[in-house]
Amino acid sequence: MTEDLFDKTICLLQESCNGVALTGAGVSTESGIPDFHGKNGLWSRFDPIEYGTLGAFIADPEKVWRMLAGLLDVVDAKPNKGHKALATLEQQGLLTGIITQNIDSLHQKGGSKNVVEFHGSLGTFSCLSCGDSYDLAFVHDNSLPPRCSSCGAILKPDIVFYDERIPDTVLTQTEQMLASADLLLVAGTSCRVQPAAHIPFTVLNRGGKIIEINKEPALKHIAAVILKGNFSTVMEKLAERLA
Ligand SMILES: [Zn+2]
Repeated sequence: MTEDLFDKTICLLQESCNGVALTGAGVSTESGIPDFHGKNGLWSRFDPIEYGTLGAFIADPEKVWRMLAGLLDVVDAKPNKGHKALATLEQQGLLTGIITQNIDSLHQKGGSKNVVEFHGSLGTFSCLSCGDSYDLAFVHDNSLPPRCSSCGAILKPDIVFYDERIPDTVLTQTEQMLASADLLLVAGTSCRVQPAAHIPFTVLNRGGKIIEINKEPALKHIAAVILKGNFSTVMEKLAERLA
């Protein structure tokens, strides 16, 4: 990474009026959360069709909770320096918000305020039978699988399973955040999973610029600048330069 690329990135951030970040698994790997789609990731151990769909959950929630039980570690992870640096950009007024595909709530723990959780969150749980909601403390305090206190049904985490649509409220929040976005900082995501994969093109088609921070860049043809490397290393350097 040359200094020129950092200068160009800082220039783009400072020139933009409404910068938004789009993040994925790569921003959390340094917090000890392996990419679910990676070599040692969740989906190499559990078949996504058998364990990662709402259909599978409805058919056999106890079975799906065998996968979810291992995932609960995710919510005990700590934000890394990259999460904190991204929050600093928001505080400095260089970013207005974050759209994340992660379900670990680490952006909020790192200090970010305006976060859209595109694929939901592992921090809250719902009863599909009666609609009651529960927090993580309730799940930690009870044996797995957790059951609804009102009706006894097994609770579902508020994450978006593979066969589920992104909730309308989330799509609306996303659209509102992107409506005036003139810059998109893409980090830790190869932008392969739809419909989130469309977001860079939405910004681009409206005349916005793309900054990409990835170990393996995926947006070479559309990014105005690419900072190749680990998320936290790159972000820390960027934050130092902006301090
Ligand atoms: Zn219930």
